[in-house]
Amino acid sequence: SINIKGKNSGGRLGLKVKNVIAVGAGKGGVGKSTVAASLAFALKEFGARVGLVDADVYGPSIPHLVGTSEKPVAQEFQGKDGQTLTRIVPVEADGLKVMSMAFFVEPEQAVIWRGPMLHKAISQFLQDTEWGELDYLVIDMPPGTGDVSLTLSQLLDMAGAVVVCSPQQVALLDAVKAVQMFRQVKIPVLGIVENMSGEVFGRGGAQAKGEELQIPFLGEIPMNAEIREKSDVGNISQLVTEDCESQAHLLKVAENT
Ligand code: ADP
Repeated sequence: SINIKGKNSGGRLGLKVKNVIAVGAGKGGVGKSTVAASLAFALKEFGARVGLVDADVYGPSIPHLVGTSEKPVAQEFQGKDGQTLTRIVPVEADGLKVMSMAFFVEPEQAVIWRGPMLHKAISQFLQDTEWGELDYLVIDMPPGTGDVSLTLSQLLDMAGAVVVCSPQQVALLDAVKAVQMFRQVKIPVLGIVENMSGEVFGRGGAQAKGEELQIPFLGEIPMNAEIREKSDVGNISQLVTEDCESQAHLLKVAENT
């Protein structure tokens, strides 16, 4: 169990969330969603109340990873001034409250959104959802783009961002851009995670890059087929709750974050 600190991250949206954490990457395919989901489950294992937002508008994959085919429902709530408000109830998946852009678009529909629309969608998405009180809200960001980060930095008082990268040099260059992007929009960078380390892509590049950029190294997650297998069948929570090769690595990343 952990001592859950954190100021109120709710910002202008007034969410009752202690810590909002963004998980970003310079490019797609490095395991950003995998890290976001396993971070959320690990924090829950430590005893925190956790929500997971899939803001990866270009490729929302969280519902698949956590294995839910449910859709969120709208429910009426009593507002402060006695008015009835219709709010969205997030989907529950293995004890996490989950919201995803995937709930609102057709599975094979491409999402083409410009900045202002994206801004509106993300803010409604967060604000109109009945999150209740949370210790952590983990946000799976779209890769690369600064649009969503800028929106979030304006709406919330974010605890910070975790940058995920794989060990090869090209991926590291993109990770540097992601770090700079977060710094530009004044979201503190909590650290860097090296995912898929091992024989194929190499090892240690992210730690070195972290030192260069003066950001903490949060841990490495080796390339391991069990991660892909559990994700494919929607059992990603098992990677942190069951004894397996990746468990210690994933819990360590959450602890360091
Ligand atoms: P992103 O969100 O960066 O696009 P994903 O988290 O969707 O990436 O991961 C891309 C693919 O790689 C998924 O099939 C996932 O299961 C797999 N994957 C992620 N991390 C690992 C790892 N450490 N070992 C093996 N497969 C992984």
